[in-house]
Order: sequence, then structure tokens, then C-alpha cells
Amino acid sequence: MPGFELFGEEERKELNDVMETGILMRYGFDGPRKGIWKSIELEKEIANRCGCKHVQLTSSGTSALTTALAALNIGAGDEVIMPSFTFVASFEAVLSVGAVPVIVDVDDTLTLDPSAVRAAITPKTKCVMPVHMCGSMAEMDALKQICDERNLILLEDACQSLGATYKGKALGTIGHAGTFSFDFVKTVTCAEGGAVITNNEEVYTKCDGYTDHGHDHKGVDRGADLHPFLGYNFRISELHAAVGLAQIRKLDTFLSIQRKNHTALKKMLSQIPEISFRRIPDEAGDSCTFLSWFLPTEELTRAVVAEMKAQNIIAGNMYWFDNNWHYIRGWSHLKNAAALNNLTDPQKNALLKLQTTSFAASDAIISRCVSTLINLSWTEEQLKDKGTKMLAAIKKVLQEELVAPARL
Ligand SMILES: *Cc1c(COP(=O)(O)O)cnc(C)c1O
Repeated sequence: MPGFELFGEEERKELNDVMETGILMRYGFDGPRKGIWKSIELEKEIANRCGCKHVQLTSSGTSALTTALAALNIGAGDEVIMPSFTFVASFEAVLSVGAVPVIVDVDDTLTLDPSAVRAAITPKTKCVMPVHMCGSMAEMDALKQICDERNLILLEDACQSLGATYKGKALGTIGHAGTFSFDFVKTVTCAEGGAVITNNEEVYTKCDGYTDHGHDHKGVDRGADLHPFLGYNFRISELHAAVGLAQIRKLDTFLSIQRKNHTALKKMLSQIPEISFRRIPDEAGDSCTFLSWFLPTEELTRAVVAEMKAQNIIAGNMYWFDNNWHYIRGWSHLKNAAALNNLTDPQKNALLKLQTTSFAASDAIISRCVSTLINLSWTEEQLKDKGTKMLAAIKKVLQEELVAPARL
């Protein structure tokens, strides 16, 4: 990851097909487009790849989440349970449809802790939104059971985990709907784009209309289309879909490179007894975009991150605890309800309450976690070099801490 590491002739060819007709829009212009329908082709590829019935492309992963929430009839007054560790897009989408994000702890899977979800359910809860962070999965059996028991909607934010599976099923296909992102740093990228996937035809039809101002897409004349409900413009362009099409055809190659590099790096880091690894509910389904690992304390983790930074081997190593975009600790704008538009009272109250909510269980995990990005373009030598340098930096810090145990 990311897919742009392996851009090549394939992406150029798909783009040229579109430029030859000049029809950059996914709808209409049936004659002049001469049979070139990149968005439709990409939707079919994703459906095949994920083993799901319906795919709706969107302009981004964020708009895919918004579209899915709207199509699942989640809105004003509804509570959506989501994790403290995700990208800000997850709560942006929830707020945009008028719903209330209810943020709960993650566990050592780096995803929703099922017991925290159970404890957060109220009569207003309508949806549980697990986020499959960093290429791997949430505990879907436990979460699905909770949703089935309590009659809740299960919406999977799989934006970071295209190609990953849980017990043989593609992530995003286990809940009522799932979403992907094809932004510039994702596994498959087309610069900006996203998708909603679902097996429910009615949900799909709503996504199809919602992303295009409510068009019912039943005729050949756009001007004569009916608008059974209000929509928005979350359309993808043919240029973006063309790049996405070339990229998704490389997904299996990406996955096999990631798995190989991930295995090699994990084996190296396993030599250090103080290191433990993220718990993966189904190891075989990990897309291996990141290797996420823990040290025993926050202090040791901070010291190791500082040492790797000093040695310039930090690139691609992420210490989420200090990151402003992925962890609750850094979401001051959310906790201050600093929105440009007026929020509803339930939204405002829920956000301000976050200022005094304890996320001690999440802190205990995330403060000790480092994720190392698994690149596609590493040569064997570069991979070995990276692992060797990481090992040396970690051992150096552990050694220093042993002689100065007071710091622990
Ligand atoms: C990237 C991402 C999104 C949003 O995708 P964009 O295409 O950047 O809008 C949503 N959720 C998660 C977990 C993401 O990583």
C-alpha cells in the first residue's frame, strides 16, 4: 500500500480510452461515448471481487459513508456507535445526515470492542459502525450478533480494508452495507473515489439515486428522469473510474506483495520478546497493509518512536496516539462541537459530553501501538534494511531502559 506505488501502462490505457471519446461523465451521452462505461465496469469488478450483489461508486469514501447512512434511513435523532480509533470521515458522515456519533472504546484488535458496543446501546441507537482499521478486521461475529439481537443496522467502514476478508467473506459484505475509499493513500487508488457495497437491492437503488441528485435512472433522457427522493452530487467521474479499474485488476498482486512483506517484517520483529502484535480475529483475512505492534508501556513506545525518528526510519511508522486525525485524543474540533453549520441539540450535547468521557481502555492500547506501513515497492534488500534498522532502534531503547529502570 498505497496502490499508486505500482501505477503503470494499465492506468494510462484506461484513461486514454476515456479521453478518446472525451465523455468524462458516467451518465448519459450514450452515442458519443462509443460503449466506454468505465464506472459501470469498475462496479462490476468490485462486485465480482467482493462477492456482493450491488456496488455504487461515489466521489470519495466519505461520501460513500454518507450515502450508505442515508440509504439505510439513518438520520436526525439516531445514534450511531463507532470506535475511538478511525479516520475523522466516519463521524463527519454521521453528523452530515443529522445523526449522533456515539464513540466507544477499541480493544487490542484496534477496532470496536463488542462489550463497549453493548454498554453504549440506548433506545436511540440505530446503527453500529465498525471500522476495519489498517487493513484488518473487527470481530464481526460478535458485532453481528449484537446487531441481530437488538435489531440494529450494521454498517462496515471498510475504507482501509479492500481485499481483506473475515471467515471467507469480503469485509463490507457482512453488514447491511459496507464502504470503500479509493483516495490517494489507499490500497486501490484513483486519486479520489469510493464505493458502497450491499446485497440489498432497495438499499442499492437508494444509493444510485442519492449520489446523482435523486435521479431514478430509468429512462434514457436525464431531463425526463423522475426524482422519488432528494439526493446530492456524489458522482465519480469516468477519469477516476478508469484509473480505479486498472488498479483493482492489480489488487491480487498488491495483496500477495503485502502478505509477503508483512510476514517477513513480522518474523524479524518477533525476535524481540517485549513486542506483541495486534490481535487479528481471522489471520488469513488480513490484507496486510500495515504491521501493527505494541510495546509494554507508553513510555517505552514513545522512546522507540523518538529513536526511530532520530534515525530517520520513521517514514511509514505511525504513532496514532499523537495523530490529530485518527484518534479521539486529537479530535478537539469534535469535542468542542466546532461545526460551521448549526448542529442539532442532541448532536451538540453528545459532542460536548466527549470532553469528560474516559477513553482509558482505548488509551491503554493506542498509547502502546505503532503501525508500520507495508510498501508495495520495497525490494528484498530495502525490506531487510528497514527491519534491521527497526530492530536495532528498538533493542537500543530497551537496553537503555534496562539500565535506567527508574524511567519505567
Ligand atoms: C480514508 C477513509 C475514509 C474516507 O475516505 P475518503 O475517500 O478519503 O473520503 C473513511 N474511513 C476511513 C476509516 C478511512 O481510512
